[in-house]
Amino acid sequence: DGRPDEDLLAGLNPPQRDAVTHRGPALLIIAGAGSGKTSVLTRRIASLLRTHEAYPSQILAITFTNKAAGEMRERVQQLIGDSAQGMWISTFHSACVRILRREAQQFGFTKSFTIYDSGDSRALIKRLVKQHEGDAFGFTPAAVQGRISKLKNELADAESYARQANMSDPAERVFVEIFADYQRSLQKANAFDFDDLIAQTVYLFRAFPHVADVYRKRFRHILVDEYQDTNHAQYALIHELTRPVVGKAGDAFSSGGMMIFEPDEAPETEGASLTVVGDSDQSIYAFRGADIRNISEFERDFPGAKVVLLEQNYRSTQNILSAANAVIGHNFDRKDKKLWTDVGDGDPIIGFTGYSQHDEAQFVADEVDALRRKGVDYAQMAVFYRTNSQSRALEEIFIRAAVPYKIMGGTKFYERAEIKDALAYLVAVANPADEMAVRRILNKPRRGIGDVTETTIARYAADEGITFRDALANGSALGVGPRIQQAIAQLDAVLVEASEIMLPSSGEIAPSTSVTEGLNVLLGKSGYLDALRMSKDPQDEARVENLDELVAVTREFARNNPEGTLLDFLTEVTLVSDADDLDDASGSVSLMTMHTAKGLEYDAVFVTGVEEDLIPHRISAGEPGGPQEERRLFYVALTRARKRLFLSLAMTRAQFGEVSAAMPSRFLQEIPHHLIDWRQSPGDVNSRGGMQSRALNARRGGSGGGSRFGGGGRYGDDLVPLPPRDRPAGSIEKFANRIPAKIRDNGDLELAAGDRIRHDDFGEGKVDMVTGEGAKRVAHVRFDTAGPKKLLIKVAPITKL
Ligand code: ATP
Ligand code: MG
Repeated sequence: DGRPDEDLLAGLNPPQRDAVTHRGPALLIIAGAGSGKTSVLTRRIASLLRTHEAYPSQILAITFTNKAAGEMRERVQQLIGDSAQGMWISTFHSACVRILRREAQQFGFTKSFTIYDSGDSRALIKRLVKQHEGDAFGFTPAAVQGRISKLKNELADAESYARQANMSDPAERVFVEIFADYQRSLQKANAFDFDDLIAQTVYLFRAFPHVADVYRKRFRHILVDEYQDTNHAQYALIHELTRPVVGKAGDAFSSGGMMIFEPDEAPETEGASLTVVGDSDQSIYAFRGADIRNISEFERDFPGAKVVLLEQNYRSTQNILSAANAVIGHNFDRKDKKLWTDVGDGDPIIGFTGYSQHDEAQFVADEVDALRRKGVDYAQMAVFYRTNSQSRALEEIFIRAAVPYKIMGGTKFYERAEIKDALAYLVAVANPADEMAVRRILNKPRRGIGDVTETTIARYAADEGITFRDALANGSALGVGPRIQQAIAQLDAVLVEASEIMLPSSGEIAPSTSVTEGLNVLLGKSGYLDALRMSKDPQDEARVENLDELVAVTREFARNNPEGTLLDFLTEVTLVSDADDLDDASGSVSLMTMHTAKGLEYDAVFVTGVEEDLIPHRISAGEPGGPQEERRLFYVALTRARKRLFLSLAMTRAQFGEVSAAMPSRFLQEIPHHLIDWRQSPGDVNSRGGMQSRALNARRGGSGGGSRFGGGGRYGDDLVPLPPRDRPAGSIEKFANRIPAKIRDNGDLELAAGDRIRHDDFGEGKVDMVTGEGAKRVAHVRFDTAGPKKLLIKVAPITKL
């Protein structure tokens, strides 16, 4: 007989079909990585549309990144072969911006509000910490920002926090003052920070039920991907949206956003249907307030919810899955999932240990090259690392090897000073109440307006009860010298001119191309570009190029959004998230952090820096649940790979100008050893020091264990014994921590200036001096032929002669 959406179900396994076709108030899909959660969500939307159970405008789908949102929208349109205009598929933040742009006037903001990114809010907090003398209590802007962010994610404001805080503690009082002042400053600037976007939308819905009802009526189907990483505020938002509507159904669209109704005669409309998909093993944002309980308590929150489990993985080979399953199996407090695949074992996982991070990067570049020659597209390869700073060594080698690459994490571009300046110019036009933006451009380029004048302007504004921006228009009343007065008038004129282009006072709607035009006026007539062009600083040339790039971004924006406004543009660039790259990544290898990798998949994946202190990261050690969260992060990284997985590490790593010894990550030991084929094991690297391997061989004699790193003995130098089987959970950590320390103990090698040594690669040389202490002792050696080198004594393959 055939459902109208039968073709959408083709190829799905039974539980996937269930998840697509189930109808009811609440559906929870929990499943491991690569089991089709996102695909099912996409097909479910297509199915709702195809069967005419929903109009596109009744669908709200939440993804974790803008990039994922774009992909989902495209996929839905492909599936139903039609444009599905009016669907909201976006991140939590973008959805809230859209709501707030419409409703902000309800509670003291205007629709042209600015969005403060983390840097903006840090700058504001820095000023307030100083003003309230918070440093007397050891407050740093970063710490205060972190605390405020956390509170907002818990939906606490300064008042509610003060009610339960110990206000007899002066530090608490000052914190509360800063928090409250921060919130007032944001309101005055007509601005929201990132956390506010969610928290204030929740506040809006709670304080103005008639506004909430508009959205409750509109969105009949709410679908959330990556639900395991929602925080409390996001959870509350979903709850608000899925409540039953109190007013009459149907009048929301005709009433232009506001509804008036008599509660008595209003029939209750059922709440929206809610679908969430997630994997508690992939929860990696607890540090940002994500709460796994949102998943585990879903059935309690939504009684009668249907639960679907997906167990077949369609992404990875069995070898990759087995490794990932083994690692995540070491977390306690989790429900064991049976993830399987029918694609076969596939190639073994390749392991590599470099002497340094350059060595490691060279390995990655070589393997990328080899894959490319076997016909794998660059775009199908990705390299992951735990911290951004690790990308530098990779980039250096990739450039030298002419491997095209792309760093995922578009935010970096928008963090550049010149880009922030240019955006501040645009904000000064879009939202003149945003004092921080206006102050930022006051003396950029240098026009002789110093701190004294800035204070004068601020005082004048306060006295007159006008905004800082409006004070600029009254230059003659400020009582400043004629040169400064002229500079202020010039800035004012440029802002007015650009504003006429982008927000014409005639009320006419400016075309989306006006953003480009306005930006050119701002950068040109303010003298900003000229100042950079005339500068002798070679960096300024790059800055001009970056600004050209920004202008190109406005052009692309205009092309993609024929109706787009200046505000739309600013929203878009402010909400660029880690996974949203600036340009097309096709044709290049993608480099990104493990966090950014969430939800993505590649044929070949390189997980680099698999070392203690990186993954698990050093800072996680002291956090409750930290190492477990790191293990989930590592699990996310492994499960991105379809066919090939490479795990690499280095024995020494230079960071922050310091070389230190690195130890293999404990997570490596959790992978069954037969799954990894070591091209060069940690043992190989260590054994290059003759003295060392002799000592180790002796030690190994007694242990009787097989190789953890020696992959079937092929490269094996069976250095590391197997951990005992069936050990209690947790003991593996202690075990893993012990071993690497033992195997590379070169630490007791006495060296002093004048000693002669032999190095496996560099030959003989003379020690000039020894610096540092303990594990960080460095020998400065002049080699007879290789020249001067600095070596980390603990791990260098050296012997004293
Ligand atoms: P993650 O946990 O990493 O977010 P996921 O559960 O969302 O993963 P998807 O990204 O939806 O998984 O799917 C993983 C891969 O499996 C995709 O390439 C998808 O196209 C494919 N896939 C999903 N279901 C099927 C199926 N029934 N038949 C064939 N391929 C499938
Ligand atoms: Mg997914």
